[in-house]
Amino acid sequence: MNITVWNEFRHERNKQAVKDIYPEGIHQVIADFLKEEGRTVQTATLDEAEHGLTDDVLNNTDVLLWWGHVAHEEVSDEIVEKVRQRVLDGMGLIVLHSGHFSKIFKKLMGTSCDLKWREAKDKERLWVVDPAHPIAEGIGEYFELEQEEMYGEHFDIPAPDELIFMSWFTGGEVFRSGVTYKRGNGRIFYFRPGHETHPTYFNENVQRVIQNAVKWAAPVKRERPVYGNAQPIEELRGE
Ligand code: ZN
Repeated sequence: MNITVWNEFRHERNKQAVKDIYPEGIHQVIADFLKEEGRTVQTATLDEAEHGLTDDVLNNTDVLLWWGHVAHEEVSDEIVEKVRQRVLDGMGLIVLHSGHFSKIFKKLMGTSCDLKWREAKDKERLWVVDPAHPIAEGIGEYFELEQEEMYGEHFDIPAPDELIFMSWFTGGEVFRSGVTYKRGNGRIFYFRPGHETHPTYFNENVQRVIQNAVKWAAPVKRERPVYGNAQPIEELRGE
């Protein structure tokens, strides 16, 4: 399986507090723990040519992970459309944290994807609400992140195909933190935690969820359905 971890990679270069946690970027930490499972993992970032997402890279990616925050608007519409087509063709897409506002996620959802947020001292408790789901494998009834940014409902997304995690925050808010969708032949998982000023991607539960999600989102190898005018398969009878 070929995985590409895409990251905007701006905070890690511009903000010392973020650089201290992720000196080589969030993408590198995610790529490293995904590699441990013996997969082929590459990274791509916004400021590379074509954002690192050339046709060659996209056509050879089975699952794409996406982290973005301050520069969603700098992602070219042409690349976003190519990513969307690849998802419809079957590429898995895992959208992380503030990627809820990325062009690709909003385009695939068709809603504003807006939410409440707060950068304070909230603890986050993520409850597994779909214990049979493979993305929750190895996770207890819940797990906690001692400090995270708060995201609160209402989260303006379409009703998910599956709801796997519900978050509770110290401030009292709740949030649908792990949701799945299918678009065309492709599978999409949105996973909420991952604010850049907290070491969230070093958390073993977070890593386990992302590892599970990559497995779950792997493409089912088949052609897209044929649409449009169709010849009958059986001989038509009667007038
Ligand atoms: Zn954030």
